[in-house]
Amino acid sequence: MFTQLSPPLMTTSPSSSSSRSFEPTATDASEALAALPSILELSRDELTSTMLEMGEKKFRADQLWRSIYHETAESFEQMSTLSKPFRETLNSKYSISTLTEAMALTSADGSTSKSLYRLHDGELIETVMMRYETDGHRRNRKTACISTQAGCALGCTFCATGQQGLRRNLTVGEIVAQVIEMQRIAYAEDESQVESGKRTKGELQGVTNVVFMGMGEPLANYKNTMAAVRVLNDGQGLNIGARHITVSTVGLVPQILQLADEDLQINLAISLHAPDNTTRSQTMPINQRYPVEDLIRACHTYADKTKRRIFFEYVLLKEQNDSLEQAQKLGRLLNGLHCHVNLIPVNPTKEGPFERTDLEAAKRFQSGLKQYGIPSTLRMEKGIDINAGCGQLRERAIDILGA
Ligand code: SAH
Ligand code: SF4
Repeated sequence: MFTQLSPPLMTTSPSSSSSRSFEPTATDASEALAALPSILELSRDELTSTMLEMGEKKFRADQLWRSIYHETAESFEQMSTLSKPFRETLNSKYSISTLTEAMALTSADGSTSKSLYRLHDGELIETVMMRYETDGHRRNRKTACISTQAGCALGCTFCATGQQGLRRNLTVGEIVAQVIEMQRIAYAEDESQVESGKRTKGELQGVTNVVFMGMGEPLANYKNTMAAVRVLNDGQGLNIGARHITVSTVGLVPQILQLADEDLQINLAISLHAPDNTTRSQTMPINQRYPVEDLIRACHTYADKTKRRIFFEYVLLKEQNDSLEQAQKLGRLLNGLHCHVNLIPVNPTKEGPFERTDLEAAKRFQSGLKQYGIPSTLRMEKGIDINAGCGQLRERAIDILGA
């Protein structure tokens, strides 16, 4: 969601040349993965009861959980805390990874990398990692941007994923596996900093934040998204704090209300992108079903129940939703709601009709919000040269790989 289609300044690493260990070809890997169910599909409770049924003690299940999610082991053989026969049994019943890397790009400044993964049935999804240096206020961080569906049914006109239609929901294991992959990359980077003396051994940091802002609509795959959040949040596993997890939605009102009742302190981001129904319906078909006033009412309920601030995403589309009057209208709409607005210049897509708002107009828009006391951030752009926008890599890969 942060890029435009500019000439690619990139490094491409097909899976066979990647330093991470993937099976040699997509076909072999897909066959191997399809053969056994992934252990990543089990919740912590399911894993424990399955291990008890296999005659193992509960602490073995805890060790296994740690090996999978904390140590991010790539194979059962690597799990040296487990006995050899137990590892062999696991190996005969389960696989671990659900993903095969089909393509990887890194931006010229190294801040953003994007992976395209092939699922066992050939579907393609994208995962992005964004690296932020410390800015004096916040420590440095690594944010994984993950997908919840292959494609998306909701058809927003500025979105490359929306233009591809829905292929299918991702499973829990497919959602979580993306963070495991990013964690392996992040740990490898931390370790190379330890080797070069820039970091002490005790300081391995890994992925610090997760945003559900990749392909698909997380709340349209509600059950699997929530199950994945619980796995990511587990203190003995990936240990991503709930306050460091953000779920972004196009604005599905019933699911926003359902989320308000979950016992989770995650952040909610709403893709608003317009201050009124006429403008919003022009780019977001979902607005016909859940118009702006219903959506904002649900946001008030959510903020009242959870006592948490809501983030609004507002993609600036030149001469569509970026005038000062529209900013003021947005200011009035959000008045009295505990919120923060993220302003994001659009990454023009192949078929999409929109151009980027220039910096001056974006700042004018921001000043309109300020008149109404609404705080906002004009987002730093990440991955400008690698098509890091939602669904854009899959689109390019289909051109390049004929995938
Ligand atoms: N379906 C969810 C989450 C995935 S999209 C949602 O819509 O919120 C994540 C964010 O990227 C959304 O705010 C979405 O509107 C935005 N986005 C989609 N296409 C974009 C583009 N071409 N440029 C900038 N942001 C885009
Ligand atoms: Fe789907 Fe979100 Fe893209 Fe809209 S912006 S089409 S909801 S992924």
